[in-house]
Amino acid sequence: MKKLSTLLLFTIFISCQNKHTEEVDLLLLNVNVVDVASGTIQQDQLVAVKGDTIAAVVSADNAANYSSTETIDATGKYVMPGLWDNHVHFRGGDSLIAENEVFLKMFLDFGITTVRDAGGDITPAVMEWRMQIAAGTMTGPTIFTSGPKLDGSKPAWAGSIKIDSVNDISPALDSLQSIGTDYVKLYDGNLTKEMFYEIIKAAESRGMKTTGHMPMSGDINTAIDLGLDGSEHLYYILKACSPLADSLTELGLGYGMMSTILETYNPKLAATIFKKLADNKVSVTPTLYIMKVLTELADTDHSADSLLTKIGDGVIATYQRRIEGAKRAKASGNTSRYEMRELVKTMMRPMYDAGVNIVAGSDCGASNSYVYPGESLIGELQQMVGMGLTPREALITSVVNGPKFFDLEVKYGAVEKGKIADLLILNANPLEDIDNVLEKAYLIKSGNLVE
Ligand SMILES: [Zn+2]
Repeated sequence: MKKLSTLLLFTIFISCQNKHTEEVDLLLLNVNVVDVASGTIQQDQLVAVKGDTIAAVVSADNAANYSSTETIDATGKYVMPGLWDNHVHFRGGDSLIAENEVFLKMFLDFGITTVRDAGGDITPAVMEWRMQIAAGTMTGPTIFTSGPKLDGSKPAWAGSIKIDSVNDISPALDSLQSIGTDYVKLYDGNLTKEMFYEIIKAAESRGMKTTGHMPMSGDINTAIDLGLDGSEHLYYILKACSPLADSLTELGLGYGMMSTILETYNPKLAATIFKKLADNKVSVTPTLYIMKVLTELADTDHSADSLLTKIGDGVIATYQRRIEGAKRAKASGNTSRYEMRELVKTMMRPMYDAGVNIVAGSDCGASNSYVYPGESLIGELQQMVGMGLTPREALITSVVNGPKFFDLEVKYGAVEKGKIADLLILNANPLEDIDNVLEKAYLIKSGNLVE
């Protein structure tokens, strides 16, 4: 009898201990938790990770209540959500699949745990990577992808699906849905504005997200009314900021209308379109960094870029087209890229203040010369700060607004219990200086420490 009661007491003792000690897979101790959305910092916290999810964010005083297989002492460090690059490309044909795969590691090197692939011609490889990354059999960022772009009968990019008539739209969307892509990327090789609108309508009725380029003959206001979810680059928004938009459309100038559009930019019209974008929750990816790189391309020697050594010869060969284009523009005295950049500097603050869901995207990938995966997203954030956003606002465009495009705020966007454990741990406070996002100490992807 005595023996039995001792055993009973012992069992109660053990179960009480268990009740207070939660078993987790990873503990971050004494870390400063950065809430990017509000710009506040909780000091000396404990972040517990179980599986791919954040199990708790509490004061580090509670450390005794957790037991973990792996513990990181993060004293003096800062934790924020892993970065999102919301506009990248995997492309260049099957012969460049291996060179594209190298990009996955480059993203992680710069703290990027999620990328949104904006269309290419190696979709089967991309779908395979994302499956393996999700299964943990491959290391890389979470991939959201549009799969092939939708374009006209003469697509600008290899691998695009041709939309010649309304009859082509349903099969095209069927095929995207059968592959399991995440959104529809529209492109303006020679897509007509009528087809552009029809695709948006059809995608909207299926609950598929749409973003991309708009034919310059189109009107973004109309597209928004039909359900457009995003705009990649700023051309189409700039068009709506000019009082001459309609008369320039009549002239059939395509991108040739840009210089007049820039000259006639009207801040009042800009305020109207910004409000419309905000009211309709349309995301805008300004791609500021590639604009800078291409503006300066003809005058910059990239041969000693440290990241160039990581880029394969096949991808480097694709850089030539834009290099030649930049040389031609310089020779002909075409300064429209420069003028656009100067104007955009005045746009970012009002657009942000209007509540537009601005998302950070680098446009890195084959063909986009010297816009290196990873570094270019940091460049995008630096450009945003250079153009008037605070470091906090720039970070919001990556880690908060990126998930919003996919309605994934519940899973991403903060270091909070229940969210995916994609965590960037920095040696310095990123809210103080955007360059501090380069001070990576550790990266945790889906709960796993990336070595
Ligand atoms: Zn792109």
